[in-house]
Amino acid sequence: LVVVTDVNKNFGDLHVLKNINTVVTRGEVVVVIGPSGSGKSTLCRAINRLETIDSGSITIDGMELPAEGRALAQLRADVGMVFQAFNLFAHKTVLENITLGPIKVRGMSKADAEEKAMALLERVGVANQAHKMPAQLSGGQQQRVAIARALAMTPKLILLDEPTSALDPEMINEVLEVMIDLANDGMTMIVVTHEMGFARRAADRVIFMADGEIVEETTPERFFTDPQSTRAKDFLSKIL
Ligand code: ATP
Ligand code: MG
Repeated sequence: LVVVTDVNKNFGDLHVLKNINTVVTRGEVVVVIGPSGSGKSTLCRAINRLETIDSGSITIDGMELPAEGRALAQLRADVGMVFQAFNLFAHKTVLENITLGPIKVRGMSKADAEEKAMALLERVGVANQAHKMPAQLSGGQQQRVAIARALAMTPKLILLDEPTSALDPEMINEVLEVMIDLANDGMTMIVVTHEMGFARRAADRVIFMADGEIVEETTPERFFTDPQSTRAKDFLSKIL
């Protein structure tokens, strides 16, 4: 589904993605972990074309990422993104946050979009919050709404960049449960997270990045029990 080939990205003198190669197949759940500044977010953003790349190629379903216009809007609809900081539209209700994209980008009727939105809110456990404003929800609830909003576009793939790291500890699990449910349901997911429980339960593969490179790419079992590189061992000794 996603093919990343020889991707390089610089910010000025800083080489943040160094010859990145990876393939994500349909239905796969890939967890990306690594130290701060290793390029995890930049890689996610490049896959959604929130960031351009300097060389190499990224394709989704065999198509190069479009640079602009309708095709780019289509790509953004096909590739859902959930960020660390809840990025709901503050001046729209929960329900409006979810129906906006399907109505505008997918051309759905308001009634259909609302019906679908309610089903998704039900699924992530916040249907009773549909008519509130985002600020009236807890962080965990907001993040579940953000996931529902991504799902509302029927994306081919969802990117989640540290979706639980801004949450209070007691809210982390409710979001992880939703993510595990999605993974079990066959959603293709790329998840930047240091939540080892999620990685072990849901990931098919772990990509360990350090210093702009993919240093290890293996199963979660193998990565957590028998990391091969010194950098991975150092990193794990700090977070586990
Ligand atoms: P974290 O775990 O802290 O989120 P990360 O692995 O997601 O880190 P990135 O956000 O991808 O790391 O950043 C990789 C490097 O690129 C960092 O050194 C960062 O400072 C730099 N960087 C990221 N975005 C920009 C930008 N827009 N302009 C300049 N430098 C940037
Ligand atoms: Mg990041």
